[in-house]
Amino acid sequence: MDILRFGTAGIPTCTKGDTLQGIQDVRKLGLDSFELEFVHSINISKEKAPDVKKTAQANDVVITCHAPYFINLNTDDKKKYHASVGRIVNSARIASLCGGWSVCFHAGYYMKDDKKKVYDKIETALKEISKTLKDEGNKIWIRPEISGKQSQFGDLDELIQLSKNVERVFPCVDFSHLFARSIGKNNTYNEFKEILTKMEKELGKKALDEMHIHAAGIAFGDKGEKNHLLLKDSKFNYTDLLKVLKEFNVKGVVTCESPNIEEDALLMKKYYYSVR
Ligand SMILES: [Zn+2]
Repeated sequence: MDILRFGTAGIPTCTKGDTLQGIQDVRKLGLDSFELEFVHSINISKEKAPDVKKTAQANDVVITCHAPYFINLNTDDKKKYHASVGRIVNSARIASLCGGWSVCFHAGYYMKDDKKKVYDKIETALKEISKTLKDEGNKIWIRPEISGKQSQFGDLDELIQLSKNVERVFPCVDFSHLFARSIGKNNTYNEFKEILTKMEKELGKKALDEMHIHAAGIAFGDKGEKNHLLLKDSKFNYTDLLKVLKEFNVKGVVTCESPNIEEDALLMKKYYYSVR
């Protein structure tokens, strides 16, 4: 990626219109990325996708994608497993037709299973997904996301291991989720530095040059994430995070998932550019 871009998770709240209008509004607002929210369904058709690509390119907006929530690669139910794989693959296909750069998803639930077993199962699934997309010539980044709840698969170490073992996989680093799932840790200048240092050491400089980040205000309880909040109403330390992202010259996309997606995205972008 050329720079660190900031954008919205979905159509800006101020937009009166569809995805195409949303992408244009993102640029008008001074933002530079747009995440297609397929979280409830893949709501862009094959026919419409080229228009999304054209609009995004014309406005210099990078497209990312969030696959549906209804995914559990750790299910024993074969039908549910194949549906989960299908939702990731189909999100990647449509996102790619939209000119998308990266597709993120919540990989699954531990379901009280042994964590190593869960990891192995999810790695096998991601290998299958990666191969399918590779065979189709689809070069989109496949991004299992750091999850916000302790019951959900996806801590930083698991995602680093997947990135080492599966082609075209890198983590979607949701710093707010990391803060919530660790019940208030991973929220200081030094901890942010440790996270990036670890990623660079384990995955190489490329991981920091091609980073898909989520950031938002967040509330959590003793099992992790409860809900997203405005940055100003949350203890999430986005200012130190942005300082560290700048210090490490991280490039990629920061997608804002606060309730007021565009305002907090702009707040972060402005802060990032004010850091010396
Ligand atoms: Zn997510």
